[in-house]
Amino acid sequence: MLITNGRILTFGDTHQLIENGAVRIEDGRIAEVGPSNILEAAHPQDERLDARGMVVMPGMIVAHTHFYGTFARGMYIPGPAMKNFPEILQRLWWPLDRALDEEGVRYSALTPIIHAIRSGVTTLIDHHASNHFIDGSLDVIAEVVEETGVRASLCYEVSDRDGQAVAAAGIRENVRFIKKAQKMSHRRIAASFGLHAPLTLSDATLERCVAEAEAAGHQGFHIHACEGPTDQEHSLATYGIRTIDRLHQRGILGPHTLVGHAIDIDPWEMALLRETETWISHQPRSNMNNGVGVAQLPAMLRGGMKVVLGNDGFTNDVFEEMKVAYLLHKSARNDPRVLPADQLLNIVIENNAALARQFFGQTFGRLQAGAAADIILLDYDPPTPLSTDNFPWHIIFGFDGRNVDTTIVAGRVLMRHRQIPHLDEASIAAHSREVALATWKRFWQE
Ligand SMILES: [Zn+2]
Repeated sequence: MLITNGRILTFGDTHQLIENGAVRIEDGRIAEVGPSNILEAAHPQDERLDARGMVVMPGMIVAHTHFYGTFARGMYIPGPAMKNFPEILQRLWWPLDRALDEEGVRYSALTPIIHAIRSGVTTLIDHHASNHFIDGSLDVIAEVVEETGVRASLCYEVSDRDGQAVAAAGIRENVRFIKKAQKMSHRRIAASFGLHAPLTLSDATLERCVAEAEAAGHQGFHIHACEGPTDQEHSLATYGIRTIDRLHQRGILGPHTLVGHAIDIDPWEMALLRETETWISHQPRSNMNNGVGVAQLPAMLRGGMKVVLGNDGFTNDVFEEMKVAYLLHKSARNDPRVLPADQLLNIVIENNAALARQFFGQTFGRLQAGAAADIILLDYDPPTPLSTDNFPWHIIFGFDGRNVDTTIVAGRVLMRHRQIPHLDEASIAAHSREVALATWKRFWQE
């Protein structure tokens, strides 16, 4: 297939804006990028997808999300307003995950993935919990990933919060799915080993997870840590050491591990995360919503740490998350120079792509020969000139998930002119509302 007449933002080492450019796709990968007239003349037989002057760029990647968080939207939570993060966990997230059944898992994944396609997201790294429906839960999500056509890495969040049997089932589900994903021939579904957070994981459970992951030939974990002050208070009171030190001692950190948040950490803990080359995912909308503080992003970036951008279950419009990140750090530091657009783009495009590469073994985040053909087209008619030098500011101030016209994953067109022909969105949304209400009823009964 040949995408023609685009304004191609290539990204990558030799970033260029190619006006009247074309991208040729072959077997799920990008074969060639260049001027439209030259590629059209060279490949007259190729199927055409006319971009009609739209912006063509790599698909967006969400580094940390929770599909099931979708069912929290608009849900009534009995009692007074939740006053801190532990209450948010105990009164919202944990009872919600326990209320999910198989249908709940399916529809709470299906609708945010459709929104992802609509917003130009091609890859998502999910962290799942449904403690009353664990065995096979990742298969249900994997079916949804297959059906919708996106790329996703899945894991189950092991936790001791609902007892030993539930923790054991969580470990079993991770191991089972890791082995299954290892055997998959295509590269659209990957697995990680999920852990909730240090405050709900005993040393014995962590030890078992490390042993089971090793036995399964898997490296790395996907875990939350230091999302608020509670993790440190709990770790110091229970184990007499700080949270990140404990994770390090237990063998959880490393170049294949993804830690969500890492907000409440001291300089030595930051050094440990840096030294172990651990990935840190940043979710500004979630952090602001939970009132848990602001991650020390400027210092992490100055130290060359592997910072990526997720959304923690907020909407899958990465452009929206980027805007919030862009504003938050300036506001928090009273300094408009903090986290400029080009630095933020580097996180969202380069770093997120490097993380995805680790899961899927392909090159992402750039339009160049050999990279995965995960491509989006945006209908963007700017009021000011767009150039190779100023595109990061156009992306921050002008781009929006609703501008996305076409979403392509592994060379397959999932959405064209905002139509997703293989998914009946209206009936999926209608059924999702029924399943969500049934889930809410179980939540309210608990
Ligand atoms: Zn999270």
